[in-house]
Order: sequence, then C-alpha cells, then structure tokens
Amino acid sequence: MSLPGLHAVLARLRAAEAAAGRPAGSVCLLAASKQQQPATLRAAAAEGQRIFGENYVQEALPKMAALADLDLSWHFIGRLQRNKTRDIAAHFDWLHTLDRADLARRLSDQRPAGRPPLQVLIEVNVSGEASKAGVAPDAVAELAATVRALPGLCLRGLMCLPAPEDDPARQRAAFRRLRATLEGLAEPALDTLSMGTSADLEAAVAEGATIVRVGTAIFGPRA
Ligand SMILES: *Cc1c(COP(=O)(O)O)cnc(C)c1O
Repeated sequence: MSLPGLHAVLARLRAAEAAAGRPAGSVCLLAASKQQQPATLRAAAAEGQRIFGENYVQEALPKMAALADLDLSWHFIGRLQRNKTRDIAAHFDWLHTLDRADLARRLSDQRPAGRPPLQVLIEVNVSGEASKAGVAPDAVAELAATVRALPGLCLRGLMCLPAPEDDPARQRAAFRRLRATLEGLAEPALDTLSMGTSADLEAAVAEGATIVRVGTAIFGPRA
C-alpha cells in the first residue's frame, strides 16, 4: 500500500517551513488516523511516519495492540471524557485536549508508575465559540499551574482547533492567538504548539506550530 498523500503533506510541510524561514524538520507531522485501519497505519509507519493521533479510546486500543511491534508515539486528540481517563493514562504518550483541572488530577493519579509522565497540551478555545471544547485564553494560566504540580503529567504546551476559515489571514489570526497565549505564560519549558490540519497547516506553520495534525490530506476523505 503506498500513501501518496503522506509524501504530498510532507512536501507541503517542508515548503511551509521554508516560507516561514524555519529550519527543515522543525514541525512534526501527527497523522490523524481516526477511522483508518491498522494496515493503513502500518503502511504509513513503513514510510517513516511515527506519530499517530486518535480520537476514540475504544477505536485506538485495538490499533495499538495490532501495531505493538512498531515503535510508535500515540497521541489522544479527541474529546476528553471522565470515563476514558484511565485508558488514556495507561496507553497514550501524549494528550492534546486537556481542558479541566479535575480530569488532570485523575489522569495524573491513573498514570502507571512504570511509564514516563503523560505529555500534556491544554486545549484553548481561540475562536470563542460556545460549543467548542477548550479553555478560554485567560483561563489557561490557572489550569497550567494545576498541571505543573501533578507528578503523572508533564505540561508541554497548547493546542487549538479553530472554527473552519477559508481566508488565510483569518486562519493565521486564530493561530496567532494560541501562540500569544503560550508566550503570555512566560514558561520556557513549554515548547509545543499543536495547531493546523489539512486545510490550514501552512497558516499554522507560519504562526509557529511545532505539531500539525493532518488526516484527510494523508489518508483521503473519511466516511
Ligand atoms: C481529525 C482531526 C484532525 C485532522 O483533520 P483533517 O481535516 O482530516 O486533516 C486534526 N485535529 C483533530 C482534533 C481531529 O479530530
């Protein structure tokens, strides 16, 4: 199985880095693999893809088991639910969608002792939509302070999934808000901005993304 989309996305990423004056390879590609079969992920891994993002725990666990022979990094990028924290703490390397202090405490308590801390990003609602997940930019500092005190978690930065926007200038404005929020925390240990998808990865890279989360452009449209 060949994945021409993967190579096309990597080419877009390298072009976006160059256009932004950033070093080649400074942005990591997370393959958003919801609804994709293990064989498809295995094909991507054979071409060098190592980071996979999953949205549903019950879908992710069998994929992890099927691909346990590979050295992959598993990131949870779906909505965080209370009854899923134990499985996330036990099986994932990263969580991109933390938005509640009580769930942060649960995840820290549930992280197995033998594993390194769960690498955590706080999801920020940069578009201000009432229905969207994520904390408001002015509430990030308080949640960050809570996470920093938890031994089972390692706070790495921020994530956003802004409202879809066709205009590149508006795409960039939303991503700029995430970067400004990170810079406002004045916390040098935070090195990660997870932002940009198939539709807007160039704008995200221009605004400082360090991880882009791309599904459709790699694997084709989902059912
Ligand atoms: C599915 C998903 C993506 C990837 O979106 P595409 O449009 O398929 O590139 C990125 N982030 C999150 C949180 C997702 O759920």
